[in-house]
Amino acid sequence: MPGVPADGTPPAPSAERPLRVAVVGAGPAGIYAAEALARQDAVPVAVDLIDRLPTPFGLVRHGIAPDHPKMRAIRDTLHRTLEDPLIRFVGNVDVGRDITLDELRTHVDAVVYTYGASLDRHLGIDGEDLPGSLAATDLVAWYTGHPDADRARVEAALADIRSVVVVGVGNVALDVARVLARTPEELEPTDMPQHVLDVLGATGVEEITVLGRRGPAQATFTTQELRELDGLERATVLVDPADLELDPAA
Ligand SMILES: Cc1cc2nc3c(=O)[nH]c(=O)nc-3n(C[C@H](O)[C@H](O)[C@H](O)COP(=O)(O)OP(=O)(O)OC[C@H]3O[C@@H](n4cnc5c(N)ncnc54)[C@H](O)[C@@H]3O)c2cc1C
Repeated sequence: MPGVPADGTPPAPSAERPLRVAVVGAGPAGIYAAEALARQDAVPVAVDLIDRLPTPFGLVRHGIAPDHPKMRAIRDTLHRTLEDPLIRFVGNVDVGRDITLDELRTHVDAVVYTYGASLDRHLGIDGEDLPGSLAATDLVAWYTGHPDADRARVEAALADIRSVVVVGVGNVALDVARVLARTPEELEPTDMPQHVLDVLGATGVEEITVLGRRGPAQATFTTQELRELDGLERATVLVDPADLELDPAA
């Protein structure tokens, strides 16, 4: 522990020597944790908010769909927390690669882990890794401008496509379907990178199938997201009426 005297007794935290806490991961969980630590007045705390990326906000920046500016506006709230003088954002530090946990612990009194879930889940089916088959994380990382996005792979998959199957019936599935169905004019006001706008503007997608293993009663997307599909400029939403006949179990 830093500043521990020879007899091993840590000094009581004070305004001059606050408790130093490292929060690993500057997504919303990390920023809210930092805020809670800085706001309480039981013990003086200074927070180092560490992220492997050069920018904060995690999946608020690299997950929430760019055509949902209201959702992304939560960044303004999170930004205010980062202006607190007790909170320091330390970007470009990958804990576990650039600094070990043991090293980090020698510099701080406590570590809070809020590093999210960065890997996609595999279906474990044949052909899953063939060209043209992408995990939503790959596509979303690309269209939100994540520095780790595999541009070549995603752009090769999107070249000359006419029909797309989106596997899954949650909000991320509808984000993906909606982004692929939008016109260049609808996407233009978003903060998507220009190379993404260029590629999406050039795709000739004519048919998008959102594929679920069970019926609409089990779908996990929210009504608001579903309803939004109906407002797309060049898309017509087709629903098989037979799918809406629910059995007593549904
Ligand atoms: C495609 C998609 C769309 C979404 N849309 C919505 C939506 O519309 N509305 C909504 O409310 N929620 C949405 N979510 C969910 C929301 O984004 C997450 O619930 C939220 O971001 C989780 O916050 P978090 O802080 O736990 O993790 P994250 O936001 O993932 O933040 C974790 C941070 O930790 C960092 N990190 C990871 N490993 C390390 C390391 N070793 N060292 C340092 N830093 C590290 C990462 O770079 C990242 O910045 C969406 C998620 C996805 C994937």
